[in-house]
Amino acid sequence: MKYPDAVVFHVPHDSTLVPQGARGQFLLNDESLTAEMNLMTDHFTHDLFVHSQQQVVVRSPVSRLVVDVERFEDDTLEAMAKRGMGVVYTVTSSLNPLRRRLTDAEKCELIEKYYRPHHVALDLAAAQSLTCYGHCLIVDCHSFPNEPLPYELYDDALGDRPDICIGTDDFHTPVKLMNEFVKAFTRMGWRVGVNTPFSGAMVPNKFYRKDPRVMAIMVEVNRGLYMSSTNYQKIGCFGAVRRKINDACAEAVDEYRRANAR
Ligand SMILES: [Zn+2]
Repeated sequence: MKYPDAVVFHVPHDSTLVPQGARGQFLLNDESLTAEMNLMTDHFTHDLFVHSQQQVVVRSPVSRLVVDVERFEDDTLEAMAKRGMGVVYTVTSSLNPLRRRLTDAEKCELIEKYYRPHHVALDLAAAQSLTCYGHCLIVDCHSFPNEPLPYELYDDALGDRPDICIGTDDFHTPVKLMNEFVKAFTRMGWRVGVNTPFSGAMVPNKFYRKDPRVMAIMVEVNRGLYMSSTNYQKIGCFGAVRRKINDACAEAVDEYRRANAR
């Protein structure tokens, strides 16, 4: 199915790139850094959500371990910063030391190089969509491990994790839109959670809490559906899962658009 032009796909966490200049900041040897990357990367999410060259995509080129573009730039606004996992992580997913202490200049350089250009691109994509179509929908594309990691805020260790988690923002996610995403993914035969085990959705900074014409929704896919948790490779049903994700997102967007046109 084809997406309407006003949809922007945000892919923040699928890169495993650590640029040469940043490698020396990490306290982990190559083997441990790869192991941490395996746990924290939203593997193959670009492949899962992006199906044609016509889709508008804003994708971080670097690993979230270098800079996490999904966080607020200002640590005082970012809940995860208290855990050492703000825009520049200082700890691993098991809350052990990840990086040496950076100078302010080093942290600024990371943000200038990798965070701000990403957000300029996201702001621009949303602004262009507003200009052309009068609205914009950000689909924030993620995945999560089937077993919780120690850093996570939401403690669901006792319960089964859903197959799909839909994240929403009070201001930028219309309830109808959320319902269409839940329905579409449920129709695919998956168990769907809302804001559990992760919550929220990326909104371009320029429009955050200012312009409700910029809508946002997060889709998190349980990695157990499409990849191995031992060798971190795709499993046999990857293609089928990819098609179902595409169909569910496209149907949800289409249903919402048609309901609003009535
Ligand atoms: Zn993610």
